[in-house]
Formats: sequence, C-alpha cells, structure tokens
Amino acid sequence: MRNIQSVRGMNDLLPDQTAVWHRVEAVLREVSEKYGYQEIRTPVVEKTALFTQSIGDQTDIVEKEMYTFVDAGEESLTLRPESTASTVRACIQHGLIHNRQIRLWYMGPMFRRERPQRGRYRQFHQFGVEALGWPGPDIDGEIIRIGERIWKELGIQGIILEINTLGSERSRTAYRQALTGFLTENTDSLDEVSLRRLHTNPLRILDSKNPQIQAILKDAPVLQDFMEANEQEHFESLCNSLAQSGISYRINPRLVRGLDYYSGTVFEWITDRLGAQSAVCAGGRYDKLITNRGGKDTPAVGFAMGLERLIELAMLQSEKVEAQPVHAYMIDLTDSSEVTIRIAEKLRDKGLNVIEHCGEGKLGNQLKKADQSGAALALIRGQDEAESGVIQLKHLRENKPHSNVPVEEVVEQCVKTLM
Ligand code: ATP
Ligand code: MG
Repeated sequence: MRNIQSVRGMNDLLPDQTAVWHRVEAVLREVSEKYGYQEIRTPVVEKTALFTQSIGDQTDIVEKEMYTFVDAGEESLTLRPESTASTVRACIQHGLIHNRQIRLWYMGPMFRRERPQRGRYRQFHQFGVEALGWPGPDIDGEIIRIGERIWKELGIQGIILEINTLGSERSRTAYRQALTGFLTENTDSLDEVSLRRLHTNPLRILDSKNPQIQAILKDAPVLQDFMEANEQEHFESLCNSLAQSGISYRINPRLVRGLDYYSGTVFEWITDRLGAQSAVCAGGRYDKLITNRGGKDTPAVGFAMGLERLIELAMLQSEKVEAQPVHAYMIDLTDSSEVTIRIAEKLRDKGLNVIEHCGEGKLGNQLKKADQSGAALALIRGQDEAESGVIQLKHLRENKPHSNVPVEEVVEQCVKTLM
C-alpha cells in the first residue's frame, strides 16, 4: 500500500509547534476583547457564488485560487478563501446589522490554491476583525490600533504600516478612465493577465506582482488626484488620528488590495523579515459590500492577518514559548491501580496536569518516561508503599530527598509542593 502524505501546501501542526500557536491565539483573543469585539464562527464551506460575487471575479483568488467542487446535491461549494464575505453573509442572514452596529472578530483556516512557499500555503489561518455600521474614520483608526497592540503584546518589531484611500465608486470611475487611457498607451509592455484586466478591471493591474508592470506604473496617474473633498477629509482625519496615537505610517498611493470589495481606507502592515512574503495584515473599508449582498446600506471596515506569518515573526523575536507543564507522573507497580487513579483524578480536580504511566515496565524505565515527560514530581506506588499505605514522592527537577506520604495526604502535599 502506498504511503499517503498530506496535501501539498496543507501542513500538520505538530505538538512542539502548538504551544506557540496557543499563546498567539490567546493574545489575539484578549486584544479583541480589550476593544469590545465579539467572536463569530462561520462554516468553512460556503456557496461558491458568495465568493465570486463578493471578492470579484477578476481577482487572483476567484480566478485561480479557490477550492471549488460540486457536491452530491449538485451544488457548487467552495472552501472559504477568506472570511469577510462569510461574516457579512452571516450578519445579513441573522439580522445582526439590522439598525445595529457590531464589532466582530474571527479566527480559523482559509484555503487558497497558490504555489506553496515560505509564508504562503494552501491551507493557512487568518485572524480578522470586522466593524460593521460605522462610517469612520474613528473606527478605521481603532482597527489599526488593534494591529499595533497585537505587535506590541507579541513583542514583534519592525512592522510598517502602509495606508491609502481608494475613494468612492464615483472618484474611482473617473480614475479608472484615466488609468485605462495611460495603460492603453503602454499595452506593449503589459503581460497577459494585465491585458485581460485592462478593460474589465484596470485597477487590479495596480496590484500586479510582476516587477515589469510595477515599473510602468511609476508614471501612471494616481487615484489621489481624482478624490473628492470629503474623501480626502476622511483620509486626512485618519492620518491625524494615527499620528496622535504615535503610530507611524507610510502613504502608498499604489496600494489597492487584491479584493474588489474595498472602498475608501485601505492598509497593509508589512515587514522585511519574512523573505518574499511581506504582508502580515491587510484590510480596509468595504462600504458597498453589504448592500451588494442584499443587506441594508451599512458602512464597514476590517482586516485579516495571516497567522503563519505572524507566528513566524513572533518566534523570530520573542523568547521560546514554554509547552504546557506536566506536574506529576503516576507510577503504579502493583496489580491494582485503583488508588493511584483516584489520586490522579483528585490532583486534576485541583488543577494539576497529571500523566499516568500506561503499559508495563520496570521502575527504571517508568522513571525514564517520567523524566522525559517534563513532570516535576513522580508519584510511585510499589508493593512496599502499598503495604504501608503511602506513596513515594520523587522530585524530578530539584535535588531534594524523596518522601513517603500517607495516601490520604498525597493530594494536599502535591498541591503544596507544585502550586
Ligand atoms: P498576498 O499579496 O501576499 O497574496 P493577499 O492580498 O492575497 O496577500 P489577503 O487576502 O489580504 O492577502 O489576506 C490577508 C493576510 O493573510 C495576508 O496579509 C497574509 O498575511 C495572509 N495570507 C494570505 N494568503 C496567504 C497564504 N496563501 N498563506 C499564508 N498566509 C496568507
Ligand atoms: Mg494572495
């Protein structure tokens, strides 16, 4: 039989990696709560149309990255490539934004069929926040401060904030015309994808990863020059509030983001410490997505952060995260383990982590396992101990003499020693 391996780009997280994941996830949860955001969990699978209609059919995600399949009921379904579309769907479906505003966060696996490489996987994880119902710019500033706090609490340095504004549909239409004019004069230098997008979605070309295209774009018209006064004001007010909060930022007029639903403020947190994949977190306003999806006109803003990239940064920069502690390792060499099982469960009632030795083995081998487990104490019950009604407590990490403790006092004694 052939050995079956995991799917390319979809990784196992092994026990020595999960401790750092837990710590990072805990920080993300705590920071969300500090700002009054509530968790939402949506299914991993959605109807395909949700993504094609929300994200936009000329985007990298929809054009080539989705895991789409037809299920036995002949319905086209897709593994979610991101979570904003699902969050908005859930909010409309359950009336969460009906005359209400809501601050939400989510965390979980996403799926994109990209070329796997460092920082880019086919199953990856995102943490994200979405604030629905506020026109900003105050809330735009708030979610940027959430990002800043996450870097701070994880001890991550060297992340740069780039921001831009895409303006309203109206100013983008005017800009689109100017950009199309410019690119039409340069069609000889465009690649196949850009040529295809030239007349369907020219703004997407600004997001191209092809260096040759980026070089041409240096002389292209900039969106800022087409912006209306109130849009400029929104953006300036956000910039001022960031400056007042001591958050440094760089305005990047070419930042357009790879999804169609954005409008107004967009931003990315980038770093030069992750090789080719520089974006750790990206987001912006999507004021029209909710009406487009059939909801009541509701302004909204959010971001999504890649956990694999975030964790790689956290590991580069902070001290090692300790795995979960093992407090005690139970060794019973008698024929009946009733007494040690009872003690182990009582210790767990008190909040201690206890491993019971399973299977046979000489005392020496069992002690070796106890040592490997990282436990602070071994609790040993051999024939002699059983006859005298005691348990031997052996310190595995400290140079202290072992002691024989009456069975009734073992729990109390362990708690005193370990907590
Ligand atoms: P990129 O330009 O790197 O492809 P993107 O614009 O497609 O990013 P978003 O859709 O904005 O990314 O997702 C937000 C964040 O999720 C990214 O900044 C990144 O940290 C992370 N991310 C996106 N795609 C992947 C992936 N395939 N593997 C790991 N992390 C990813
Ligand atoms: Mg991408």
